[in-house]
Amino acid sequence: MLPSSAPSRPGIRRVPTPSILRLALPSPLRRLFDYLPPRGVDVARLQPGVRLRVPFGRREMVGVLVDKVEASDVPADKLRPALAVLDREPPMPAHLLELCRWTAQYYQHSLGDTFSWALPNLLRQGDPAEARQQRFWHAEPGAREEDPRLARAPRQRETLKILKQHPHGVAHDLLSQLQINKDSLDLLQEKGLVTLEVREHRVPPHHGPWLAQAELPLNAEQRAAFEAVRAGFGSFHSFLLAGVTGSGKTEVYLQLIRETLEAGKQALVLIPEINLGPQTLSRFERRFNARIALLHSALTDRERLDAWLAARDGDADIIIGTRSALFTPLKNPGLIIIDEEHDASYKQQEGLRYHARDLAMVRARLENVPILLGSATPALESLHNAQSGRYGLLRLTQRAGGAHQPKFHRLDVKSLPLDSGISMPLQRSIKETLAAGQQVLVYLNRRGFAPTLLCHDCGWISQCPRCDARMTVHQGSGELRCHHCDHRERPPRNCPKCGTVDLRPVGAGTERAEERLRILFPDYPVLRIDRDSTSRKHAMRDLFATINKGEPCILVGTQMLAKGHHFPRVTLVAILDADGGLFSADFRASERMAQQIVQVAGRAGRAEEPGRVLIQTHLADHPLLVQLTEQGYFAFADQALTERRSAGLPPFSHLALLRAEAHKPGQAEGFLDEACAEAERLQATLGHEVELLGPVPAPMERRAGRYRAQLLLMSTARAPLHRLLTPWLQTLEGMPSGRQVRWSLDVDPIDLF
Ligand code: ADP
Ligand code: ZN
Ligand code: ZN
Repeated sequence: MLPSSAPSRPGIRRVPTPSILRLALPSPLRRLFDYLPPRGVDVARLQPGVRLRVPFGRREMVGVLVDKVEASDVPADKLRPALAVLDREPPMPAHLLELCRWTAQYYQHSLGDTFSWALPNLLRQGDPAEARQQRFWHAEPGAREEDPRLARAPRQRETLKILKQHPHGVAHDLLSQLQINKDSLDLLQEKGLVTLEVREHRVPPHHGPWLAQAELPLNAEQRAAFEAVRAGFGSFHSFLLAGVTGSGKTEVYLQLIRETLEAGKQALVLIPEINLGPQTLSRFERRFNARIALLHSALTDRERLDAWLAARDGDADIIIGTRSALFTPLKNPGLIIIDEEHDASYKQQEGLRYHARDLAMVRARLENVPILLGSATPALESLHNAQSGRYGLLRLTQRAGGAHQPKFHRLDVKSLPLDSGISMPLQRSIKETLAAGQQVLVYLNRRGFAPTLLCHDCGWISQCPRCDARMTVHQGSGELRCHHCDHRERPPRNCPKCGTVDLRPVGAGTERAEERLRILFPDYPVLRIDRDSTSRKHAMRDLFATINKGEPCILVGTQMLAKGHHFPRVTLVAILDADGGLFSADFRASERMAQQIVQVAGRAGRAEEPGRVLIQTHLADHPLLVQLTEQGYFAFADQALTERRSAGLPPFSHLALLRAEAHKPGQAEGFLDEACAEAERLQATLGHEVELLGPVPAPMERRAGRYRAQLLLMSTARAPLHRLLTPWLQTLEGMPSGRQVRWSLDVDPIDLF
C-alpha cells in the first residue's frame, strides 16, 4: 500500500493539492500509514513533524506526520480521518527529524518506532510539548465563607477557608495533601469565588561568568589537543582523543565546553551508563556556572521531558546523558563529546539497535558541529577511522599531574595451583603491598561464588533448565542463579542424579575470592564491589568512603571497578583471569579483554606511588597479551587490527546479523533458511557482494526457554549490504514463517550472540 511516490492510477481521483497525511506510527512494521486530516483542519498548515492522534484498529495511537501526499493506495472509502492535531509546530527540530529518518534507514527499523525511542515518553503518549505549567488555586479577594450560596455546602465552605489561609495560592499538586476536594473547587470556580492561575515554569537565563572554578593550566599535549578541536569549531570535524587513563582528557573536555559556552552554544556530552554517578556530575557542576541538564534512566517522565525541552529551547547550556541523550534536541549545538567512546553501553541491544557513538557522528555532520570521541582504550573501529584520516587523532601519552603509568606483569599460572583463583606468587604480592600500607585491587569479571555446582561422584552440573548455560552458585543469597535468564532456585542438598551429598562449587567468582582473601588476610578489610554487593542503596557510597580513607585494604570486584573511579592508594592491581578473552569464539573478546585490563589498571597509582598490574594467565606467551603488557594498548590494537584485516573482519568488513528465536526447536532455523534463500534470490539481480554465513544455531542455542539461531551477513563495502537489506527486510516482514518466530536485525552488531 505504500510506495511513497504512488503513481496515479485510473480510478483514483487526482486532487491538485496534497490532502492525505502520511504518518509514522509506533508499530514495528517498516512502513508509513495514510490518513485523512481531522475534520476541519487545513492540511496546508500542518508541518511535517507534528504529532497527530489517530485511530488504529480499535485503539488510538500518536503518530508523527512525515509527508503530505495527493493520493493513497488505500481506497478512498477505507481512509480514516485522524482524530486530532497535537502540535502547532513540530516538537523536534528539523535536524533531529532528519537524524531519525537516517537512523531508521540505516538500522532498517520502523520510522515510527524510531521516533518512539527518540522522543520522551510523555511526547510519545501525546502530552503537550510544553514546559511544565504550575497551576495555582486562589481565593478571590472578596470571597467570603458566609456567602449565601455556600449556606448548604459545608465542603465548599471548608475548601474556601483553607484557600484563604494561603494568600499566594495553593499548588494544584498539593491539593490532596491539604485534603482539598477537587469537586468543591470546581463548584467554587463556577460561582466565581476561586480562580485558577497557570504559571509558566521558566528557567532563569544564564548570566555572569561561565567559570565557577579556575581551570588547570594545560600541559603541552593537552594544549595541542585543545587547540586542534577549537580550530574545528563552527563546522563538522571529528576527533579521537586517545589519552591514557589519568592523562587529563576530562580537563580538555571542560575547557572546550567553556569555549563552546562563550560562543553562545550548547555542549552535548555522552557518558557510559556506569559513569553516571555523582562524581561525574559534580565535576561539571563545580567547574561551571551553567544550566546543566542531566538525562538518565532514573528520571521521571516529567523530569525527562523538562530536560529535553530545556535543551531544545536553549534553557540548558550543557546536556549530559547516557546513550539515548543522543536524541536530545539542541537549540544552538556547538560541540558533541563522547566520553569512553569504546564503552559497550553506547550500543542499544534491544528494539532499535543503534550505536550512539556512530549516530553522534551522523548528527554532528547534520548539525555541522565538531565531535570529540575520547578514550584511553579506543575501539578498534575508531582507531582505524583515525588512522585512515577520517578522524583527527589527538594523543595524550602522559599522566597529568606527574603520576606514573602502572607497570604490567604476566604471571604464568600454567602449573601453579590456584587457591580460589589466587596463585601463591599473587598472594605474596598482596601481602607485601598491604604490609607497605597500600591498597590492592583484585579484578574478576564474574559475579557470584562459583560459576558451576558439580557432583563429584557422577558429574552432574547445575544446568539452567531454560538455557544452555550453567547456573552460578550465589552463597550470599543461598541460590543457584542463571545469569542469562535470571532463573533462580535453591541449590540441591543431594545430587539430583545420583543422590550423593558431594556437590562442589567449581571455579571462582567474586564472592569466593572475597571469602578466601578474608581468610588469607584476616587483619585487613576486604571490600567486594559488584552488582550484587552494591544493589543496596548507598552501598557504593559507603564502600568508597572506606576506600578513600586510604587505609590498607583489598577491593575485589567486577568491571564496576574498572570505570570512572580513581583509587589513588591502590598500588597493586591483580587480574585473576585474562584467558577468557583470548580463546573466546567472539572475535571482539580480545579487544574487550585488553580494554578491561587497561581500564582496571588505570585506577591504580594515580598520585605519588606508581602502580603494578599482575595478570594471571595460562597463555603467558599469547602475542596479543605480550603486546598489550609490554608495549601498551596501541601496540595491541595495531596487532589486533592486522589480525582483523587478514580475517576480513570489522572494521575491514561490515556485518548485519539476523537473529531468530522460537519455542520449538528448528523453527528459528526454518525461518532463517527461507530468509537466506530470499537473500540469494535478491542477490541474483543485485550481484553477489554480500556473503551469507549460516543459518547456524546461536552460540548459546537455548536461552530463557527459546531456541535461537542466526544468519550473518558480511560485506567488504557498506553500500551493497544496505542495497540488499532494504528490499530483503520488506520481504521478511511478509513471510508467514516469520510469524512463528521472534526475529530482529542487528546492523553493525557488537556481539554475535
Ligand atoms: P582522564 O579523564 O584522562 O582520566 P582527568 O581529566 O580525570 O583524566 O585527570 C586526571 C587527574 O589529573 C585529575 O586529578 C586532574 O585534576 C589532573 N589534571 C588534569 N589535567 C591537569 C593539568 N593540566 N595539570 C595538573 N593536573 C591535571
Ligand atoms: Zn551425582
Ligand atoms: Zn537461564
